[in-house]
Amino acid sequence: MALIVQKYGGTSVGSVERIQAVAQRVVQTVKAGHALVVVVSAMGKTTDGLVKLANEISPNPSRREMDMLLSTGEQVSIALLSMALQALGQPAISLTGAQVGIVTEAEHSRARILQIKTERLERHLKEGKVVVVAGFQGISATDDLEITTLGRGGSDTSAVALAAALQASFCEIYTDVPGILTTDPRLVPDAQLIAEITCDEMLELASLGAKVLHPRAVEIARNYGMPLVVRSSWTDEPGTWVVSPVPQVRSLTGLELVHPVDGVEFDTDQAKVSLLRVPDRPGVAARLFGEIAAQSLNVDLIIQSIHESNTNDIAFTVTKQSLRQAEAVASAILPALNTEVTHPDGEAEVMVEQQIAKVAIAGAGMIGRPGVAAQMFSTLAAAGVNIRMISTSEVKVSCVIDEADCDRAIAALCKTFEVQKSGVRSQEPEIRNQRSAVSSQPFKKPTPYTLHPTPHTPPVRGVALDLNQARLAIRHIPDRPGMAAELFQLLAAQQISVDMIIQSQRCRVINGITTRDIAFTVAQLDADAACTVLTQASPKLGCGEIVVDREIAKVSIVGSGMVHQPGTAARMFEALAEHQINIQMIATSEIKVSCVVAKTDGIKALQLIHAAFGLSNKV
Ligand code: ASP
Ligand code: MG
Repeated sequence: MALIVQKYGGTSVGSVERIQAVAQRVVQTVKAGHALVVVVSAMGKTTDGLVKLANEISPNPSRREMDMLLSTGEQVSIALLSMALQALGQPAISLTGAQVGIVTEAEHSRARILQIKTERLERHLKEGKVVVVAGFQGISATDDLEITTLGRGGSDTSAVALAAALQASFCEIYTDVPGILTTDPRLVPDAQLIAEITCDEMLELASLGAKVLHPRAVEIARNYGMPLVVRSSWTDEPGTWVVSPVPQVRSLTGLELVHPVDGVEFDTDQAKVSLLRVPDRPGVAARLFGEIAAQSLNVDLIIQSIHESNTNDIAFTVTKQSLRQAEAVASAILPALNTEVTHPDGEAEVMVEQQIAKVAIAGAGMIGRPGVAAQMFSTLAAAGVNIRMISTSEVKVSCVIDEADCDRAIAALCKTFEVQKSGVRSQEPEIRNQRSAVSSQPFKKPTPYTLHPTPHTPPVRGVALDLNQARLAIRHIPDRPGMAAELFQLLAAQQISVDMIIQSQRCRVINGITTRDIAFTVAQLDADAACTVLTQASPKLGCGEIVVDREIAKVSIVGSGMVHQPGTAARMFEALAEHQINIQMIATSEIKVSCVVAKTDGIKALQLIHAAFGLSNKV
């Protein structure tokens, strides 16, 4: 007998008939011998309706009263589902978040869960009842026992948190789509269902998966090793398993308030190759990384940043041992690049640096917490560490620094984020092996379903397109420790989340001061605010102008298999090059490669890349 938490979304309980159908499914699961906690959302578009009512009364209602109002939607659906179960002869009881003891912060409309008291739940389960719990809501830990909500879409988070607190076997999320697809089916009609995806991949695909699964739910699932399955409530299809390696044991108090950063990683076995002043036209990255892949060299970070002239810089890291070979490949393509265009800044050239290290902070908790990257930069600045390269993804910020600074950087970061380090040192191959042994730990097998691990994990699990970002560039930032920290702290103070951050390779000396550019992307909604605060601060900090471009699209490939497959990034760049799509920016993490392209190329880019990885028309 397993303990299962099932969650049904708004459409799944959108009418009396649907509630009855859900009750049937619940009863079947009980008959199969399982104990069941069922979390439900409000019926259909109830919550939207309530928001509309509130806005008819006030353009700006208080967050406390909004919580009071919106939490009623779920109270309707739990009572009705419980009645439907009882009508089928199944003992059941409905409970609000407060009755269950879902204790949250007092932060109205976006409360995080602190703790779930499980005594009452367990008592009812022992009595043989199905417990039907209102999703999306909780009760504050303060004396006033305020009703709180977790933020729109939050009932997924309620369900996974309950599953973690009860140490359930797994959590089923029933929704109106068959599961997680390889990409957005409205843009790519032949998007395929993904049978299995890791939580890390899911988080990196946040823009793709957010509509189906609340990222905070995935964060909890990952932190507590809770297997999830996303399935259609209309069929018996198996859906998509969202799994993660068994994590370290974690306390169940402060459930959602775990550190935003899970670990500090480092790798001193890295060397950097930069190609400066390469022509800004389609095909350059494809050619370079195609040649690199042909030599079976595995590239780790890749970044490409933008410049005022018609040339780009591309930089990447490889293991120290591969440096000479990588340098040779890069140098070999130079002559061809140099004959193609005239360069106002001089000819293209290759630059290598051997004494570098990569330090990274990783953690699902940084999603939606704008200050985390800034905190990393300021920690490094305070330790006197200069950042040479920055590359970010949804759940990771990686910085390339001088190798000599590595130990200081790690110590400072571990202290700031209160976590342990893990990593690779050059000349210590056994540690590298150990580390990969940890990451390939077997998945916790959800019962009664079995995972179907494929012999070869695909390099790319999903492809995502984000058309809602804008790019900002800050020109001529003095190249000294602390500048990135100051700039990104200003944005964090305005609650602006920064997505891709890239620091240019090229230096420009202005009035005797070496400067670099930093480009980054933010949500379009935040672009004006970001531009205003940076434009104000720029002269004081000695930086140049701020340039905004809203006509961009970000397309990303995500897959944990790419770590072991040289040439994955090259394949993406080639797909774009073949169709003359110019890449404006590149940033990578271990399991993700993102390219910024012109907005008008976005959908085409998504379709091409999806097809290039064989994700379309799979049998
Ligand atoms: N009913 C809430 C909403 O519509 C919570 C949820 O459905 O997850 O946002
Ligand atoms: Mg939802």
